[in-house]
Amino acid sequence: MPERMLQFIRIDQHMPQKRAAETRRADFDEIYGDFDPSQAAAQASRCSQCGIPFCQVHCPVSNNIPDWLKLTAEGRLEEAYELSSSTNNFPEICGRICPQDRLCEGNCVIEKGFDSVTIGSVERFITDTAFQKGWVKPIKPRAERAQSMAIIGAGPGGLAAAEELRKLGYQVTVYDRYDRVGGLMVYGIPSFKLEKDIVLRRWKLLEDGGVRFVLNTEIGRDISFAELRARHDAVLVATGVYKARDIGGPGSGLDGIVPALDFLTAANRIGLGDSVAAFADGTLNAAGRDVVVIGGGDTAMDCVRTAVRQGATSVKCLYRRDKANMPGSMREVKNAEEEGVEFVWLAAPEAFMGQGTVSGVRAVRMHLGLPDASGRQSVEPVEGSRFDVPAGLVIKALGFDPEDLPTAFGCPDLPVTRWGTLRVDHRSFMTALPGVFAAGDIVRGASLVVWAIRDGRDAALQMHLHIQNAVQTAHAAE
Ligand SMILES: Cc1cc2nc3c(=O)[nH]c(=O)nc-3n(C[C@H](O)[C@H](O)[C@H](O)COP(=O)(O)OP(=O)(O)OC[C@H]3O[C@@H](n4cnc5c(N)ncnc54)[C@H](O)[C@@H]3O)c2cc1C
Repeated sequence: MPERMLQFIRIDQHMPQKRAAETRRADFDEIYGDFDPSQAAAQASRCSQCGIPFCQVHCPVSNNIPDWLKLTAEGRLEEAYELSSSTNNFPEICGRICPQDRLCEGNCVIEKGFDSVTIGSVERFITDTAFQKGWVKPIKPRAERAQSMAIIGAGPGGLAAAEELRKLGYQVTVYDRYDRVGGLMVYGIPSFKLEKDIVLRRWKLLEDGGVRFVLNTEIGRDISFAELRARHDAVLVATGVYKARDIGGPGSGLDGIVPALDFLTAANRIGLGDSVAAFADGTLNAAGRDVVVIGGGDTAMDCVRTAVRQGATSVKCLYRRDKANMPGSMREVKNAEEEGVEFVWLAAPEAFMGQGTVSGVRAVRMHLGLPDASGRQSVEPVEGSRFDVPAGLVIKALGFDPEDLPTAFGCPDLPVTRWGTLRVDHRSFMTALPGVFAAGDIVRGASLVVWAIRDGRDAALQMHLHIQNAVQTAHAAE
């Protein structure tokens, strides 16, 4: 073991510099600065190189973290990049937006008694450096294959699969109903967490490597699913989950109550320089308004922090459980609190007030009851605890369900689970339709970018095996 590792006993944990809340409230730029090479080496050297690397075990793509930390500590950055990108198609993205506190860093063994290694920031540093130095190159397959693969959805799941299939030499076409590549990485996640040029440069690289993109094209509307299957040798469905869960109750139909993703997509489009009528007319713009966001997940955190940056008069987040029981990452809650968001814990909306347009939310205090079968505490309203919160804009961030894909695709044989996600064989990633595979949120339900990448990689390998089997069977029959 070189001297330079195991430094956690001497070197404290340091994250890259975080911009002051006052400054970052005024723009949509990422909030963390960059490590310089010596900081990255020092932080990487804190790794204890433990026998069983729990960071790797708990990483969905099984990143070989201890080894690339060691290479970074030794200044061997090109090798660190090679290793880190061998298991992850978009490490610079995961380094920015993975919930490391729940994955690798949360399982770092030095976490007990010391602070964990800042794995995410080192991962980001390695790949940002690789881009700066020109080490990240477009794919060059060793040989071309004749078979063509269709991928529906240009989110992380579809893009990871596209890259893996193209590396194997397949002719890959990615279809997306949006006008840009990236899925929720471009239109969901705000740029203060993930600046858009980081995602868009991957689009260019994939194109330069021979992946074909057909954008503004919705499968099931512009091209039928049956036609797509006929055009290609295999199809991967990676369409994500987009049906927003709704909220009922008196007044829930008032103007000024909007779904989270509409709000975030409009903000992202404005950041990309698009014109958005619903932003210009104020429908999806928090400026000068009292904003109430309902929900406690990461989407709710993205909404409150976007509203702050748009110049809302006040921003409150209403969540029916307490801080300890919220699904959102604690790091994001802390960032939101620093930026001036007020959290109203243990509060649930009962009704929306206003004449035509919302002017307030009537809420009720909740208390946590006994745990249910899953161990999660139930929530019950506290009698006589109603209170009103003024609101000129209410944003509903209550989660997402899958759209009804068999109907949208005009393909009733496409099998779904009782949650509406696509049913696949978990080893082969194939649906019950031969040659039709699925990956990402449309299989798992709303999840994480890193899980979509993992699924996309695994599905690509299975598509390859499927095609090779078909080729061998055809040869045998000749
Ligand atoms: C607001 C928000 C914030 C998030 N923040 C984080 C975070 O910080 N960290 C994290 O790890 N995860 C985060 N997530 C989750 C993460 O974005 C998703 O888990 C991930 O993007 C799923 O990838 P995917 O490829 O399965 O689907 P998506 O990214 O949803 O991509 C699906 C693509 O399919 C396209 N599509 C759908 N239907 C059709 C059709 N019929 N024809 C053609 N194209 C179609 C869509 O246009 C889209 O581009 C967040 C999600 C949201 C909503």
